[in-house]
Amino acid sequence: MKKLVCAGEILVEIMAERIGQSFLAPGPLVGPFPSGAPAIFIDQAARLGQPAGLIAAVGDDDFGHLNIERLRADGADISAIKVHRGAATGTAFVTYETDGSRHFVYNIKHSAAGLIEIGAEARTLLAGADHFHVMGTSLFSPEVIEVVRTGIEAVKARGGTVSFDPNIRKEMLDLPGVRDALHFVLSMTDIFLPSGPELFIFARATDEESAAREMLDRGISAVVIKKGAQGAVHYEKTGRTASPGFIVDEIDPTGAGDCFAAAFVSFWLRGDAPEKALRIANGCGALAVTKKGPMEGIASLATVEAFLATARTGAP
Ligand code: ADP
Repeated sequence: MKKLVCAGEILVEIMAERIGQSFLAPGPLVGPFPSGAPAIFIDQAARLGQPAGLIAAVGDDDFGHLNIERLRADGADISAIKVHRGAATGTAFVTYETDGSRHFVYNIKHSAAGLIEIGAEARTLLAGADHFHVMGTSLFSPEVIEVVRTGIEAVKARGGTVSFDPNIRKEMLDLPGVRDALHFVLSMTDIFLPSGPELFIFARATDEESAAREMLDRGISAVVIKKGAQGAVHYEKTGRTASPGFIVDEIDPTGAGDCFAAAFVSFWLRGDAPEKALRIANGCGALAVTKKGPMEGIASLATVEAFLATARTGAP
């Protein structure tokens, strides 16, 4: 089976207990929950039975060990996660506004996550990797960008493939090196997984189909557009496949995109048709939103299959 590798931030998420609660006053919190987009992605792939490993850095503290133990228990390769004495694991504090939006207080760049590097263990992991997944959130410093670049080059040199989930906020585009990094990543991308309107940050066209075709013309093999509760749409040179989302009660949307991407990429690598990869990915994304905490809704293959056997789809 093909092995997936990802590099980037590991953190814990701590959330305000009540909707509408702000951090401008003390209040009850829940967590810590293991988190970080690359960790969520790798954990979901491992739970689906795909060999998957993460290049990352944590502090030698409870938050770091919480993450490592979760990834280990779920079957991920943790050999390239470095534990740094004297650095703290990254944190994200989140509040949920009454309009459904989220507000974050992050400490990532100056946490252990910023100490990520390609050491001997990472080189060994990359030497056995068939696919490298890039998340826009991980392009937060020149050092991390360098790690991502090394990962992509190593996997491509072995004839492997690359997927890219931009997950990028417009203000990130002005950070040093980010535009060049995006240009490089896109030029290497086989599967592009933007969320809804994110596609238009990268394409000139103003309608979805033309924008997707523009990306395919740049040499990308598959463009998969995530659409929240509506599901997802897949474009390749030979056609378009839409797949509706599944009806669930959304408790916490954080991590759905990473679970979706991990599932889609895993089944794409297994050679399955877009219909099947999209259906399983929509199932994983739907289950991800049913639990509080970014990784708490991550499902095993058996759990997703049981869910899909009875789940109802919404309007596409
Ligand atoms: P991102 O988290 O990257 O912004 P989305 O919000 O589009 O991505 O979610 C990714 C996928 O997760 C969707 O394509 C869908 O399959 C699933 N999903 C997300 N939110 C819901 C929801 N409320 N109900 C059902 N499925 C959902």
